[in-house]
Amino acid sequence: MSSEPVLRLEHVSKSFRGLKAIDQVSFAIQSGSITSIIGPNGAGKSTLFNLITGYLPLSSGRIAFHGRRIDGMATNRIAELGIARAFQIARPFRDLSVFENVRIGALFGKAGARDVTATTAGAMELADIGHLSRRPASALTVGQLRHLEVARAIATRATLLLADEPCAGLNPTETAAMIGVLRQVRASGVTVVLVEHDMPSVMEVSDRLLVLDAGRLIADGPPADIREDPKVIAAYLGVMDDEGLPFSSDDSSVSP
Ligand code: ADP
Ligand code: MG
Repeated sequence: MSSEPVLRLEHVSKSFRGLKAIDQVSFAIQSGSITSIIGPNGAGKSTLFNLITGYLPLSSGRIAFHGRRIDGMATNRIAELGIARAFQIARPFRDLSVFENVRIGALFGKAGARDVTATTAGAMELADIGHLSRRPASALTVGQLRHLEVARAIATRATLLLADEPCAGLNPTETAAMIGVLRQVRASGVTVVLVEHDMPSVMEVSDRLLVLDAGRLIADGPPADIREDPKVIAAYLGVMDDEGLPFSSDDSSVSP
């Protein structure tokens, strides 16, 4: 067994006209974990996802996926290697059934044309939407659509899922269901990196938290340690909720 991390960032920086949106960020993510990236609004979370997926070029540093350097690669090449991003870019084909939508992931992903039906069925099961297989995407609730996006991402046989605010706008029941699906994704061997504002969910589901503040990584560790970390508390000062957990109220990131 290789201990090669799934994802490794080394001294990654990104500037927008002099603004250091990401400043010398380094971390490695091991297989089969859920890691959440948290931080106040504007901290650089979405930018970090955009760098990993190749949507934005790095200003400096390097990113490796399963030991292979991916910074500088085209977005579709990075996706083919097995990094899937869910929840902000892809939208379902509303007139197609759930099955057909997930099948598109299986056809165009890493799975190639092999075992498409089995891959599709497996991904629907994992995301708890097997019972909705024949329903048109247009008939799904917001919560079910989020599950569909997970299924489609998993159907590509991605080994790393970047989940961008999967619980945004969901009610508590839907949020709990989504957290359950992310756990099932992890149990299937897919590594998850999560950006999510719902702090109770983050604390519950994450194996590890990375805290960004003004583009810099200020803390890295298990949730129980992070919530006690003075640097993290200071970064969130003034935006604490009544349980004393870091709480960010603005989820309106414009960049995909
Ligand atoms: P977060 O997702 O943590 O809220 P972002 O990554 O969206 O933060 O933004 C980090 C910083 O970079 C912010 O100051 C934001 O205004 C800036 N930024 C993000 N994307 C761009 C862009 N495409 N052009 C210029 N500035 C950007
Ligand atoms: Mg954002």
